[in-house]
Amino acid sequence: MGKLPQDTILFKMPNWMPGYYQLMDYAKAVENLVIKDEKGRNISLIKVRNNAWRLTGVKNKPLLLSYDIKTAKQFVANSYVDSAHAYLIPGNSFLYVDGFLNTPISVSIQKPVNWKDIATGLEPVNGKTTEFTASNFDILYDCPVLLGNLEELPSFNVGEVEHRFIGYQMGEFDKVAFMGKLKKVVEAAVSVMGDIPFKQYTFIGIGPGQGGIEHLNNTTVSFSGKSLNTATSTNRMMNFLAHEYFHHYNAKRIRPLELGPFDYDQGSKTNLLWVSEGFTVYYDHLIVKRAGLIDAETLLSNFNDKLNAVENNPGKRHQSLIQASYNTWKDGPFGTQGEDPNKTISYYDKGPLVGLLLDFEIRQATQNKKSLDDVMRTLYWQYYKKESRGFTDAEFQQTCETIAGKSLATIFEYVYTTKELDYATYLGYAGFKLESKPTDGKQAQKIKITREANPTAQQKAILQSWLGE
Ligand SMILES: [Zn+2]
Repeated sequence: MGKLPQDTILFKMPNWMPGYYQLMDYAKAVENLVIKDEKGRNISLIKVRNNAWRLTGVKNKPLLLSYDIKTAKQFVANSYVDSAHAYLIPGNSFLYVDGFLNTPISVSIQKPVNWKDIATGLEPVNGKTTEFTASNFDILYDCPVLLGNLEELPSFNVGEVEHRFIGYQMGEFDKVAFMGKLKKVVEAAVSVMGDIPFKQYTFIGIGPGQGGIEHLNNTTVSFSGKSLNTATSTNRMMNFLAHEYFHHYNAKRIRPLELGPFDYDQGSKTNLLWVSEGFTVYYDHLIVKRAGLIDAETLLSNFNDKLNAVENNPGKRHQSLIQASYNTWKDGPFGTQGEDPNKTISYYDKGPLVGLLLDFEIRQATQNKKSLDDVMRTLYWQYYKKESRGFTDAEFQQTCETIAGKSLATIFEYVYTTKELDYATYLGYAGFKLESKPTDGKQAQKIKITREANPTAQQKAILQSWLGE
């Protein structure tokens, strides 16, 4: 129940959620929408768009809305409810009033009595377990809620900030060992930036499945202890968790200008997802190595996978990184669902490779005194901390060039055009070379990063500091 100072208002449901750059038409799930005044009389409302309903004659009147949300598909970017648990995507659940996204919100949850737990990044009201607040709708929409009988793993502190892991149907695994590894991942991520911007962080395991979504002080991840059965699947899981965690810096705080305030109607389109997603892949690879969970050869093999994915995709001749970023809304999250998938690329594959080339170029240009870490730190402190805003495409390139102390026009051609990447030059700075196996034309080309037999002192220094050794 709330009062508004306007005679005509629009109630709206977001068409997407930040972190998942696809139009979801969440309003489709709204059923039985009824609005009553303080005397319990129905107020008529007119649906004016797929996601908007108009009311008139409501100035300063208390209003009570009720509606159902139909949930059908269990997926990280959809609300889902069954007899044992509920996963609420706020953008898929809560209407907002057009023009009032900055309004503070209180959330009260009534759950079945036999569901004991709630996990969310929302701020709890003092002493209450089912009441929360959000300072505005951007915060509300950034905090999914998981309800049911949940399990909490032993939490850990990094720099006095508690990191929790709460999940649904996580299964049996060595929980102490797992949290020990996750702590090393968090420490390695934090040491890139040297700052932890929240009071508490929660990994929310929504059950077995695929995918995760980053938020300011939490992440929702598909998670099952079964994924920790083998060394390979454990590595993949730790990469995935490092990825979602690093996103609280890169994407949520270190961000393109377009990614906040959000356009909940049209989607917030940006040329820079190759940085927000691609560099987060680059860093999830590096963080797991710096955390001591994998060796150098496993790290290289992870980059080999990206290299082969990029070089064996015919889309590399048709779409640049900025086009892939901007067009993801129609090409699909991995560039594979558009009209012509052979003419698209994935910024999850090419983004981390350009990150690698850029990192080595900065290290080479500065005699290994600076690296991509300095770029990320500068973006964080300058644009997030000092100016509280995102950066433009030009400001991103400028920051890289200031750190490198030189023009990086050649590297940025790999971003703005479809020019072939010159791996040999940049990988050579760290004493790497490329080997490729000839193919009969039917099979995908196999390319491998290998080490030079006799690296120079500078090549060795760059390699060691890059590996965190
Ligand atoms: Zn991501």
